[in-house]
Amino acid sequence: MPLQQSQAIILKSFKLSESDKIVVFFTRKLGKLRGVARGARLLKNPFGGGLEPFTYVNLIFFEKRPQELVHIDSCDIIRSYYNFQRDIATASLLAYLADLVDGFSQERDSNENIFRLLLAGLKGVESGVEPLIIARYFEIWLLKLNGLFPSLRSCSKCGRRFPRNARVIVHPGGGFLCPTCSRRLPQKGESLYPRAIRAISSILRRSLLDFKNGKELMEPEREIELLTTRLILSHLGKEIPSLVFFRQLFRQQ
Ligand SMILES: [Zn+2]
Repeated sequence: MPLQQSQAIILKSFKLSESDKIVVFFTRKLGKLRGVARGARLLKNPFGGGLEPFTYVNLIFFEKRPQELVHIDSCDIIRSYYNFQRDIATASLLAYLADLVDGFSQERDSNENIFRLLLAGLKGVESGVEPLIIARYFEIWLLKLNGLFPSLRSCSKCGRRFPRNARVIVHPGGGFLCPTCSRRLPQKGESLYPRAIRAISSILRRSLLDFKNGKELMEPEREIELLTTRLILSHLGKEIPSLVFFRQLFRQQ
């Protein structure tokens, strides 16, 4: 296969041998990929800081056979966000975002919107958007881009439009229900109240940087977290360890 070139964001890396690394990265063109970086652990590392997590790079790589790891040839740094990891709160947020994208993405399943979401998350951190808001914004959009965020307009059972400023009931299997349909549930479903619904609608309409002073999102943030966590858990089938750490860090404050 000829050389490929794409913009990419490095998600994580692992030791492969004394001198080599395996790098997981999300490309603008081809989605998530894993690659071998020969010599990346040496003192004279030919990639510089370009393969550190959360670096935004122009990457050149090639693959010998499909389904195998690609071979990273070289990279040029467009912007490094690596230093953000010096702050433990930011580091735990970024680790969580990387785990989310890794968990939701199949290799070579290209999705430029997810690439752009990752970039927006990094720019949000750079601009000082509250980490909890970045996490909720990112979760909702990642679910939405994967077709997993239910419609807030109408009941997923009967299709009737929800009235304005009404609460909706969260169906345990995903979807939102009107009060009539929810009465038929074997267990009482949890409610999502208008304040949280307005905040989610706002997230789906606006860019992350609009929430730099996002007090409107902070009030229902916990309510949104319960919803997104449930949707993520039901899709992945397991909790993401880095979320547990991120949550502990923030809920203690
Ligand atoms: Zn209904």
